[in-house]
Amino acid sequence: MDLKRFIKPNILSLTAYDPGTINCKIKLDANESPYGFSIRYTTDCAQDILAIDTNRYPDSKAAGLREFIASSLDIEHESMIFGNGSDELIYSLIAAVGGPVLCPTPTFSMYSIISRILNQEILTIPLDSDFDIDIDLMFKTALQFDVKLIFLSSPNNPTGNCFGREKILTLIEKTDAIVIVDEAYQQFSGIESFIPLVKKYERLAVFRTLSKIGLAALRIGFMIASPELIKEVNKVRLPFNINSISQETALRVLRDGLSIESFIDEIIRGREYLFSGLLKIKGIKPYPSEANFILFGVDDTTCGLNAEEVFNRLIEQDILVRNLISQIKGCLRVTVGTENENEVFLEALREIVIKCRV
Ligand code: PMP
Repeated sequence: MDLKRFIKPNILSLTAYDPGTINCKIKLDANESPYGFSIRYTTDCAQDILAIDTNRYPDSKAAGLREFIASSLDIEHESMIFGNGSDELIYSLIAAVGGPVLCPTPTFSMYSIISRILNQEILTIPLDSDFDIDIDLMFKTALQFDVKLIFLSSPNNPTGNCFGREKILTLIEKTDAIVIVDEAYQQFSGIESFIPLVKKYERLAVFRTLSKIGLAALRIGFMIASPELIKEVNKVRLPFNINSISQETALRVLRDGLSIESFIDEIIRGREYLFSGLLKIKGIKPYPSEANFILFGVDDTTCGLNAEEVFNRLIEQDILVRNLISQIKGCLRVTVGTENENEVFLEALREIVIKCRV
């Protein structure tokens, strides 16, 4: 039987997202935090989590978590919606609003992937030579194609830089689109958040996630936007999208804010250490980053190896980074790890490059 005839053409033409199946001891490929929380829990807390009523559906509104996050960010409860990771919010927003969807490239791949899944037009504009947005072309495209959604990851994954604040404001003020500033990595940057501006601009939405601060396993992201937009997107959200264990665990970890902050500081220190280490390796060009990862180029004539070969040699040393050559020529991306992981990675890279140069 040919089941394919039942499947929509836009789905048939896709390949399923591959989050990576290579297993290495040192995992620096997915922009996760090297610091988790579960093992740090006291027995008391672990028992609390297990005391959840497993026969009951989760709190659909995630009231406890909502109360905590809303008050710490000084926003109204009605200005927030939770997603099973911010991935799900990209999905819900595109499902509710529709396209055309506009984003720069290279950027987080899910904006394009989800647009295609939902059969919505996706328009992409290359970043300029500083990896900033090409404001003129973004602006023109938004007007010409009557763009409905503009996704801006700032700091941008995978380049690591923040986009010009004025440029983002121009897109909010001068286009007729809903502009999403995806602040998945904002806490690692010295850049001001766009959250306070949500009260001023009704077409601005800000995404945040708990995934980069040590809670990726819980799958919790949230969007902050005008209550009007939240109300519409909420119609698309499946009712019990955040499970009870995730709600409870996240609330407890966030209340223990001190260790989150100190882990963020540790990651920022690790990033500076990695950056200066990479800078010292001839043939390796790290790009400045405001996130928890660093993009770096491999100059094959100096290194004697191309980026793909460096990637594979690192795997042989049990170190996994992200291969980005299909998006940015000759580039790999390394996530900041623990002090020891950063050291081992730098040492391995140095060895690989030096050996091949001889
Ligand atoms: N936005 C950006 C820019 C990301 O890089 C990622 C994860 N790589 C996400 C959103 C998705 O985060 P979550 O785990 O909350 O789905």
